[in-house]
This record gives sequence, C-alpha cells and structure tokens, in this order.
Amino acid sequence: MAQVGVTLQEKIAATVPVPLFPHALRWLRACHPPSEKKDHAVSETTQTVRVELAERSYDIRIGTGNLPEVGPFLTSLGDVSHAVIITDTNVQKPHAERVAESLAGEDLAVDLVAIDPGEPSKSVDLADGLWRGLVELGTDRRGVVVAVGGGVVGDLAGFVAATYARGIRFLQVPTSLLAQVDSSVGGKVGINLPEAKNMVGAFLQPIGVLVDTATLETLPRREYSAGLGEVVKYGLALDAALFDQLEANVPHLLAQDHDLLVDVIAQCCRLKADVVRRDERETSGLRAVLNYGHTFGHAFEALAGYGEILHGEAVTLGMVCAGRLAQRLGRVNDRFVGRQHDLLAALGLPLEPPPFDANKILETMMHDKKVAHGRLRFVLPTRLGHVELVDDVDPADVRAVLGG
Ligand code: NAD
Repeated sequence: MAQVGVTLQEKIAATVPVPLFPHALRWLRACHPPSEKKDHAVSETTQTVRVELAERSYDIRIGTGNLPEVGPFLTSLGDVSHAVIITDTNVQKPHAERVAESLAGEDLAVDLVAIDPGEPSKSVDLADGLWRGLVELGTDRRGVVVAVGGGVVGDLAGFVAATYARGIRFLQVPTSLLAQVDSSVGGKVGINLPEAKNMVGAFLQPIGVLVDTATLETLPRREYSAGLGEVVKYGLALDAALFDQLEANVPHLLAQDHDLLVDVIAQCCRLKADVVRRDERETSGLRAVLNYGHTFGHAFEALAGYGEILHGEAVTLGMVCAGRLAQRLGRVNDRFVGRQHDLLAALGLPLEPPPFDANKILETMMHDKKVAHGRLRFVLPTRLGHVELVDDVDPADVRAVLGG
C-alpha cells in the first residue's frame, strides 16, 4: 500500500498546534517507486580524503554520479537502523529523494524532511521543529541525520544532530560547491540569532561526507560561481600550485568538467582537513588561515542584509580588499594583487565592494565575533599560497583601502 504523500504534519496535526515540519514525507522502502531519473554514469575518477581526528576521523568520498552509493557508505560506518534526511525544497526532488532510495535499499527506515531554502532557515524555530520532529519519529541513538543540501542544510542539520539526545551521528551529502569544499568539512555546525550569524553552534564532526559533483548540474549558476570564490581562496591562502591549476583551467571550471572538479574539490578538502586536524576547535589561531577575505566579507554580508550578497561573493570581495590592504602594508607585490584580480574576474566573480560608508564597515568589523579583544584582526597574504594573522591594523589603512 503506497503511503508516499502522507505527511508527518498531517499525522501529528491532531496533537500539535503548530506545524513542525514544513514539508515532511514518510518514506517506506516497500512501497517506494524506483526513480525515473537516469543515473549519471559513475565516473572512474573518485578520490577519498581522510580527515584525521583520532576517534572522530572520517572519509570524504568525492566522485561523479555516486549518489546511489550513500546507502552502502552509511551502513559501512556502523550500526544504523534509521536515517533522517534533512534537505531543502530545492534539493529534495533532484537529489535528496535519490539519497532516500539508496538508503532504503539498505533496509534502513528512512524519513525525509525538506525545509525552506535559504539563510532564514538556520533559526532556533527550525531547530526546535526538527528536534520535536525527531522525537515524533522515535529517533534514537541508532538513528543518523543525513544532511543533503548546501551549507544552510548542513549547518542546521548538523546542529540538530549535535544537540538532539546529547548528540547523534550525522552524515553530510553536500550539494552546493561551497558546501562541498568548505562547510561540510571540519565539524562547525550552527544556527543564526537575529542579532548575529552563526552565533549558536557546536563542533560535531560528521561520520562521513559523500560528494557527487553531478549534483552541481542543478545548482544555480550564481551559487556555483560563488563557490568558485571559495575554491580560489584555498589557492591564494594555502596552495600556490592549486592557484596555478585554477588559472590554467578557467574554461573547464566554467564548463563544470567533472574530472577536474573531483580533483579540485579533493584538493580543497585535503587543505581544509589538514588545517582542521591541527586546530579542530579554532583555539591555536591556525584555523583562522581559512578565513582569508572573511573580515571584510562578513561586514559586507551583514551590511547588505544576509542573502543579498552570497557568502562566496562576500569572501571574494573581502579577498580583493584584504589583497589591497596587504599591498598597502607592503606585504605583497602588485603581481599578487593582479593575479588574484584576474582569476576572480575570469571566473565571473564580483570585484567591486559595495559602496558602504567606510566607518560603518569598520564598526561592523569590530562587532564580528572573530575580532580579538576589540582589536581589528585580518588574515593577510605574504605571497601566493601563504597568509598570516595580523593584529592591530591601523583603521586609517582600512579606510584608505575602502576609499573612505
Ligand atoms: P545554501 O545552503 O543556502 O545553498 C544555496 C542555494 O542553492 C539554496 O537556495 C539551495 O537550496 C540551493 N542548492 C544547493 N544545492 C543545490 C543543487 N545541487 N541544486 C539546486 N539547488 C541547490 O548556501 P551555501 O552557499 O551552500 O552555504 C552557505 C551557508 O554555509 C551559510 O549559512 C554559511 O554560514 C555556511 N557556512 C558554514 C561553514 C562551516 O564551516 N560550517 C563554512 C562556510 C559557510
């Protein structure tokens, strides 16, 4: 008897006055129809990156057309009886339902919850709805939260997994480029407060990450470009050879060449994994090297209103400003700034910072939670592939860079 379409919301409507899950769907393996979507041919180019964190170590599997492998991957990671997929309504049909099929194929009980897309979903209200939904579904310690989506879904689902029943396991299946190279790796999970972004959160490493580059084919173009901004950040901040490779492959990156993407995403994950291994909880300051472009970028994002400028775009604009600041302070030469500018431009990324008042930007930077004891702190390059944490930058230099 087919039960697809019976929403959890309907099921619990009699007892709960507010809808908990905006769009919830109970999946039953026995009645689930096979997907009509033709599988992307599984590419031979697959890579595994190991994130070494003692008993919290895990693998990131990167391939093309490998979404059907989520089920076997998850069951290979331990004793699992129940998977709760958290996704958003953009990702549900093209990708999350295929993940559900793969999990159901492993004899797991599978539930799927689709939230509204976008930054406002990283909220206390949504977390509350998901916690209560997990109770309703009878989720216990043999259950696993499976995040299928971009950074918003990953951060929210991870936070819910970190806090529900004092922490249950979670698996990441990132589907935006930004999530594949950045937010799904490293264990930072969290939600926003109206007063500040990412202000409530936890560190919870996933038990595994599966990246399928074919999912990027449905990602809106602007989101893909913004993700490329984060990719370039890795080259600029940590790896000159990666930067050279990106520079030499602009048309292939724009065309989403899958073999190249598998290779580039694996390199980014390896770079992030190495930093996370050495500074898992951002205590030594080392993890801050991942924040090249973020001091300016966070301020632009906050002043524009979240969602107006995409995170990867804000980071790009932030790198442009940080590069100019480093040049002004004599830390990098004109050639560095020129190559950074030319690659970002070739990838179609925005380069002109929004015309906010320089004093407003400075004030917003001072409220950033990464500001150390009220001192302005920047991650600035010294050469291609190398950045340093610089405290006590003179605000006059920042103003000059911002043209204020
Ligand atoms: P997002 O999750 O909002 O995704 C962007 C948009 O693309 C959304 O509309 C989403 O529905 C859609 N989408 C995602 N994958 C798709 C696909 N394959 N096909 C079609 N549509 C798709 O944004 P994002 O850029 O992925 O992530 C941004 C979030 O990540 C921010 O909240 C940021 O704070 C967070 N973040 C977290 C970390 C971390 O370490 N935890 C690091 C960086 C950023």
